[in-house]
Amino acid sequence: MSDAVDPGWESAASHLAFLQEATHRHYGIKSRSENPLDVPAVVEHLRQVYLSIHADGDEAGFHQMLAKQRDEREIAVKRCPTPYENPEWYGLMLSQFEALSRSAAEMNLRIAPKPLLGTLATGRVNGVAIGLHSTKTRIILLEEGLFGFANLMCKAVASSMPQREGDGERLSFSTDLADLRSKLLEDETPILRFFDALCSYVVQGHPHHARPYASPPNTHGLSSILRESMELFILGHEIGHVALGHLDGNLARNAIAESIDAETVQTNWQQEFEADLVGMHLMIRAMTRDRGMDVALSYWGAHLFFGCIEIVEHTVSLLGTGKAETWRSHSHPPTAARQERLKEVLLATVQPREAAEGAISLAGVVDEILALFWKRCEEPLHRLHREGTRPAQWWMAHPDAEA
Ligand SMILES: [Zn+2]
Repeated sequence: MSDAVDPGWESAASHLAFLQEATHRHYGIKSRSENPLDVPAVVEHLRQVYLSIHADGDEAGFHQMLAKQRDEREIAVKRCPTPYENPEWYGLMLSQFEALSRSAAEMNLRIAPKPLLGTLATGRVNGVAIGLHSTKTRIILLEEGLFGFANLMCKAVASSMPQREGDGERLSFSTDLADLRSKLLEDETPILRFFDALCSYVVQGHPHHARPYASPPNTHGLSSILRESMELFILGHEIGHVALGHLDGNLARNAIAESIDAETVQTNWQQEFEADLVGMHLMIRAMTRDRGMDVALSYWGAHLFFGCIEIVEHTVSLLGTGKAETWRSHSHPPTAARQERLKEVLLATVQPREAAEGAISLAGVVDEILALFWKRCEEPLHRLHREGTRPAQWWMAHPDAEA
C-alpha cells in the first residue's frame, strides 16, 4: 500500500513532526537528518576505508562511490515522513515493519491502515503506540535511543557466550554455564562494556554516550541475530496493540496526542500480555522465515528485552535511592510475569515440544549472563551512588516506564 493512499497519513505525520520538533527543542537535539556525508572527517574516513579495501582503487573510483552513497541517502531522506526523522533508523524500522507485516498476513492479522513509524527522544528504552482523534492511522514510536541500547546490550551478551570451533557456517556456541562463568572470569571485557552502556543510559540519559566499539569478529553474527530478534519483538509488541484494536475507542488515554507526556498513555496488564504474545509470534515467524533461525535463536531477543528493562529499573533505583528495587509499574505487569507468560505460550503452541524447551533453555543462559553482569556491576554502582552519581532527571520523573 502506498503511503499516499491513506488520507490519515498526512495528519499523523504532521502530528509526529510536532512531537519530534518539541522534544528536539526541549532536549537541544540537532536535526536528525543531518547528512554525515557532509562531515569532512567522515568523508576522509570513508576514503581511507575505500583505498584499503580496493587495492586498485583511485580518487575517481572513490568519488564515484561517494556520489552513489549521496544519491541513496537522498532517497532515504525523501522517504522519511518528517524532517526530524533519522533516515537510517527509519529505513531499518521500515524493513522490520515489512517483515512483521508478512508474519501478520500469515496469521490473518489485519494491520490497516498502515501505522506511521517514527522515533521520539524521551530518554527511555521502549516503544509506544498512539492514536489520534483526527485519523485512524496509528503512530508507532520507538524510543530514539532504543537501537543504540539494544545494540550495546546484544553485543555484550553475545560476546559473553563461549564460541565453539569448527562448525563451518553454523553459529556455534556453548550454553554450558560453567564454560560461561569461566569465560567471563577470564575476560571481563563484555561486563565492562555492559557497565559502560548501562551507566551512559541511566546517568547521562542516552546509550549513545557509551564508548563505541566493534563486536569481536566471531561474535558479530550472533550479536546481530540477538539484536534483530529484540528489535522485531519491540516493534511487534506495538503492532500487536494496533492490530488488536487496543487504541480504538479509548483515545482519552492517548494524551500524548496533546502533550509529550508519555506517562498518560495507560494500558492495562491484560492488553500488555496480549501485545507481547502477538509481538512474539510475529517476531518468531519473521526470524525463522527470513533469517532461517530456529525458535530458540528467535525467541531469546524478547527474553533479553525484559531482562534489560529490569536491569535499567534496578540501576535507576540503586543510583537514585541506594537500594536496587524494581519499580511497581501501574500500566505494565512485572517483567518476570511477562517472561513467564511467553514461556507458557511457547510450550503450549510450538511444535515439537523440544523446540520450545530449547528456546526456554537458551533464555535461561541469557538470564545467567545478565545475573553475572549484575553481580559484577552492583558494587561499582553502589560506589557511584555513595559518590553522588544520580540517574538522569527524567528517570526519576517517570518511574512508570512504558514498553
Ligand atoms: Zn505495550
